[in-house]
Order: sequence, then C-alpha cells, then structure tokens
Amino acid sequence: MRTIYADNNATTAIAPEVLAVMQPYFTAEYFNPSSMYEAARFPAKAIQQARETVARCLGGVDPEQILFTGSATESNNTALFGTVQANLGRRHIISTAVEHPSVWEVCKELKRRGLEVTFLPVNRRGELELDEFVRALRTDTLLVSIMLANNETGVIFPLERIARIVKETNPEILVHTDATQAIGKIPVDLQGNLKEVDLLSFSGHKIHAPKGVGALFVRRGTRWRPFMIGGHQEKGRRAGTENVPYIVGLAKACELAVATVDDEQTWVRALRDQLQKALEDRIPALEVNGKGAERLPNTLNLAIHGIEGEAMLYELSRAGICASSGSACTSGSLDPSHVLQAMQIPFTAIHGSLRISLSRYSTEEDVQRIIEVLPKIVANLRKISPYWDDVRNCLSIDPPPTNDHPAG
Ligand code: PMP
Repeated sequence: MRTIYADNNATTAIAPEVLAVMQPYFTAEYFNPSSMYEAARFPAKAIQQARETVARCLGGVDPEQILFTGSATESNNTALFGTVQANLGRRHIISTAVEHPSVWEVCKELKRRGLEVTFLPVNRRGELELDEFVRALRTDTLLVSIMLANNETGVIFPLERIARIVKETNPEILVHTDATQAIGKIPVDLQGNLKEVDLLSFSGHKIHAPKGVGALFVRRGTRWRPFMIGGHQEKGRRAGTENVPYIVGLAKACELAVATVDDEQTWVRALRDQLQKALEDRIPALEVNGKGAERLPNTLNLAIHGIEGEAMLYELSRAGICASSGSACTSGSLDPSHVLQAMQIPFTAIHGSLRISLSRYSTEEDVQRIIEVLPKIVANLRKISPYWDDVRNCLSIDPPPTNDHPAG
C-alpha cells in the first residue's frame, strides 16, 4: 500500500537536492571546521556559504546576522532567554495563547522566574485582535514574541503591522517571530515585509531539510546574550561544533523553498482548497478551523463533530494516510490542543480534530484518496459513537437514508 504523507507541518521529506549537497560532508569532508589545517578550510567555507545563502533567502540581510542552531526549539529558547538576560531592566513580555510550546513553555518559565507575560487571546477563527495587542503594550515591555503562522491551524498573524506598531510605540521593544511554519509557504523578507522584526527563528525539517538543524536571525544592534555557551563557534554566539552537513542542507532547502514559494501559493493552495471543499460537501457536522482567516496554503485543520480523533487517525493510518490530530496525543499528552482551546472550539469538536498538511510533493492522487477514504471512516466511527446522535440532534442533521447502512 502506498503511503500518503499529509503531515508536513510535523516534518517533511528530505528533498533529493538537499541530500545530494549534504553527502560529501558526511564522508570526504568530515573535518572539524574549527581545525587549523588546510583540510578543514573546505567545511568552514561551506558554513560561510550556507550563511550567505540563508541571508539571501531571507531578503538579502547581512549574513553575520544568521546563527545556525540545532532546531527551531533552540532558536526560540535563545531568542527569549537571550533577550531577557541582556535586558534585565524591563520585565514584560507579550506573546499569544497559541504559540508553539518552544515559545509558550518558555514564556511560562519566564513567568515563574518573575517576569510578567501577557498571552494574547485569539478569536474563534484563530486571529489576534490588534486592539488588544495595542492595549497590552507597556512602558516596561521588553519583547513581543508572536509566531508568523500557526502550526496547527495555519492561521497567519499580521507581523508586519504588529512590528510597525511596536516600533512606532517604542523602538526599544524587541520583536521576535517564530517563522518555522511560514518559510517556504509565504514570503518572508527581513528587508521588506518583516524589516522591523529583530529576531526570527526557523527549522530545517519543515522545509525538506533534516531534523536537528535550525537558524536564528538576530538583527544587528539587538541586545541579547548567547544561550549555548562553552565554545567559540558562530563567533561565540552559539557554542558547539557545527553540524556541517545539516547546515549545508538547510541552506539548500531555503534556496528551494524560496524558489517554490509561488507554487505553494498556487497549486498547493489549489489542492488544499479542493480537498477542503470535497470534505465539506461529503462530511456533515464538519468545521474548518481557521476558515475565513488568512491561512497557510498547505494546512487544513478540521473539527469533525461526534468522533474521537485518535480513532480517526488509526483508521487513516490503516489506509496508509499520515495526518495528525489536534488533541495533542502526538505530544504524548491527552490534553486537548491549547490552540483549539484558545479558539473556543467546543470540546467534542476538539476531540474530533484532524490536521492535514500538504507539501510541494503532495499530488492530486493523494488528495483524491483522502477524499475517498475519510468520509467513510467518519461515517463508520459515527455509527459506533456514543454521542453522535446527541450531536446530530443538537445540530439538526437528518440521519442518512437507511439503505446507506446495509445489514452486515
Ligand atoms: N515552532 C513551530 C511553529 C513549529 O511548528 C515547530 C515544530 N513543530 C517548532 C517551533 C519546533 O521546531 P523543531 O522541531 O525544529 O524544534
């Protein structure tokens, strides 16, 4: 059975072009880039070239403003802890209730350490209310950390406007954005739409590079302190021997992401929209989370009333389809998704939530297969659901004609 991979917000397949450029650094060019002999100059140069490529892909920024890290989680931790440690006079942070845990949990930790954190709420569509954001700004605000696009719903936040408001209010307030889900899916230009953003994080494995490599942009003049210490690498700003093949792979993936961003906007969006429409037509009591908001072109987050997300994932997996649920079981917890909770999605719908996320490798056949399989899975699970009848009555949905349920 062919596997249909529709979980690209969790991770992506490594692009063949990325794997090809990484290969020499595992074998012939394995030297430590910090070593003094001639052989080490090649990997050292490869890192510098990767830095220049990433800088170019982010809108042509100065390459010295790019640091390579081990993940977006590390980039986010560095951005938050690093700016807090360097600016001890100001104690207030603004973030949102729907950040990835690598920002959300860090904010909660900073709160435990005595900082004040405002977690901005979102509305039912998953959007921020800018008025509330403006009201949250204070004279002692140190940092605003707001993601560019949400990993669960794909909802895009207006970072250009947010950063402009911040800088007009007080240029000293720092703006960080977690752009992990945005790179390659929407334009990210640190000299253009995001020119007022001070720090930006992202990861390799969401853009067809390997897991375990990330980057952090820190604009020149930003007051921050390194998070990883104990080595001179990255000019003392991120200690640890550089992961040369992965850094080279990340740069190649960025190049490809920039080259394919228009495709994402057009045909990946067309595939997603086709899937969304077909599922809305075929599955009663289905809501598209984030519908009406500006969303990433590849992401479809569904609330399917009256069933358990885990059972749906299991059945999809049996049919060879990889997707994910919003009930956070992927994170090893049974707590419902904090993102969907913040959007006030009803509890029963959070439990039946499903995230389908496509990539440039997704095909028309993949989408057709999901359209064929998912409505049947939902219908079967609803037949055995103890609360589907209640949900149906509540939503006034007619039962299907009896010949839809042949005996046996
Ligand atoms: N931020 C967002 C928005 C993400 O989606 C992810 C990955 N799920 C991360 C941060 C963490 O990335 P990494 O796996 O590279 O640590």
